[in-house]
Order: sequence, then C-alpha cells, then structure tokens
Amino acid sequence: MRTQHFSRRLCFVMMLVAVLGLIQPVGKASAKTLNVMTSTEDLAALAREVGGQHAQVEAIARGYQDPHYVEAKPSFLLKLQKADLLVVVGLELEIGWLPPLITQSRNARIQPGASGYLDSSTVAEILEKPSGPVTRAMGDVHPLGNPHYWLDPENGRRIAKAIADKLGQLDPEDAAYFSQRYQDFDRRLQEADKRWQQDMAPLKGTEVITYHNSWPSFVEHFGLRVGGYVEPKPGIPPTPSHTLEVINQIKKDQIKLILVEPYFDLKTPNAIAQQTGAKVLVMMPSVGGAPEVKDYLQLFDYDIRLLKTALSGQK
Ligand SMILES: [Zn+2]
Repeated sequence: MRTQHFSRRLCFVMMLVAVLGLIQPVGKASAKTLNVMTSTEDLAALAREVGGQHAQVEAIARGYQDPHYVEAKPSFLLKLQKADLLVVVGLELEIGWLPPLITQSRNARIQPGASGYLDSSTVAEILEKPSGPVTRAMGDVHPLGNPHYWLDPENGRRIAKAIADKLGQLDPEDAAYFSQRYQDFDRRLQEADKRWQQDMAPLKGTEVITYHNSWPSFVEHFGLRVGGYVEPKPGIPPTPSHTLEVINQIKKDQIKLILVEPYFDLKTPNAIAQQTGAKVLVMMPSVGGAPEVKDYLQLFDYDIRLLKTALSGQK
C-alpha cells in the first residue's frame, strides 16, 4: 500500500520533471528563429554559417543545377510566403525563374527593395562589368557583369558579413550572436585560404578552357588564366566553328585542362579532348554539386584537390 502510494508520488514527480523539461526548451526556443530562403545553395551555405541556430535556411536551386535555368516549382511559393529574408545572387542570374516566385509569394517582406531582400552582388566584387550600354545580344546571360562571383573566397566573406548584418537588423536581440558567428567563419575561411593558396602556388599561371564563363572570380583569386570557353557566348551552346577555334587554341597554347560544370553535356568537351590531348575536369561551381560538397569551405577543398590531382606531374 505504502509502496504503491510512494510509486504514485514518484510517478507524479517524474511527470512534473518531464513537463518542466518540455517547458524549458520551449522557453529557450521562443528566442527568434528567422526563416531564410536563398536562390542558390552557396548563399544558403553562407547563411547557415552566420545564422546558426537562429536561422532556418533553405535554397531554391540545387547545386547540381545550372543556376541560370531552374525550374520554378510552386512548392517554393509556400516557403517564400513564410520567409523573413530572401538572399539572391542578382546580376540577372535568376531572371528566368525567380521574379515570378517572388511576386506570387505576395510576401511584402522579401520583395526587391524591402528589408528582407538581400542582393549579394551589391556587396561583392564583380568582374566583367559592362562599360557600354547593357545588352543581352546573342543571348548573353551575363549582361550586368559576371554573376558567378561567389567562387572567390573574398566574396564569400563579404556575402557572409552582409547576411550576418542583415540577420542582426531583422533580429536585433541576436545581432551579437550573428556577428560572433561571422567572425568565427571569417577566421576559418582565412585559415583555409592560406592552405588553398599553398596548394595552388605551383599551378600559378596555368591556362585552362572552361565550358561556361563561371570561373573568372575563382581564377583571379587563385592565379590561373582562362584561355577560352566551349560556349561561344555565355548561355549559347557550342557551335562547330567555335569548337574548331577552341581546338586550335588549345593546340597553339598547349592548354592541358577543360573545366566543365556538372550540368553540361560532356560530348563537345570530350570531342575537344580527343582532338587535343587536353583533359576534361568536372569542377563544382556550387555547394551541393557533389554529395561531399556540403558547405562553402568544402567547395574550394573539392575543386582545388581536383585541379591539383589533374595537373600533378604536368608542370
Ligand atoms: Zn553564367
């Protein structure tokens, strides 16, 4: 009888502990968590670095998709409706698929110009900015400058800082937290960049051909050179006459590598390789392009390892 009474009391105490245990984390979680949507996985990776547990981050485009051409799935509308912040690459990279999603979300917070809209290109160093009148002549998909600027770690740092600042504006209580996360990321990025520069030092000045013009920021940071492109113009598929020019150039300049983004057909690069002896390398332009590329630092780890391996013994 007494034991029964005791066990009933024990049971009550345990329930109380359980309930309190439940209440406590709820109390903690009432600290804000911002809903962050980004157009690409690279921006999502940077937002996660600085957002930590106070940001729920999701990207629209996958890292293995061509960011110029993404299917605008309606399922993203629901997510955009709830977003506190939308981070985009800008420079018209997403012009073919993102604007209708933003409009249809009817979320006033994330409309261009609103406080929850961040265009990363405004804080990054942009290469190939047009000097004359802007034109999309012949289908050029880079009319405002090169939109693949996240492939320079310096720009990654600038974007992370801008996202941290923006998160701090939207959630001032956690501003110090975001700032601390940014400083930690910046430190890790600087350490990693020292390692990458060492790895790339022997490859300085190496000339490569790239399929699409995705790599100017990357090659500038790491000291490579781009001799030409498999595409005659960004966004225009290879033509026989242009392919012949590329083959002649590779032979003349003794170019050893053709870098191809994972979403392009390998037929033309392989044909060029066969004619010239150059090697085709599928490089990752984005986080999520390969399963092992899960964050921003791993993106450079992956590509630099690939380049090093491909060129080892050739120089
Ligand atoms: Zn492009």
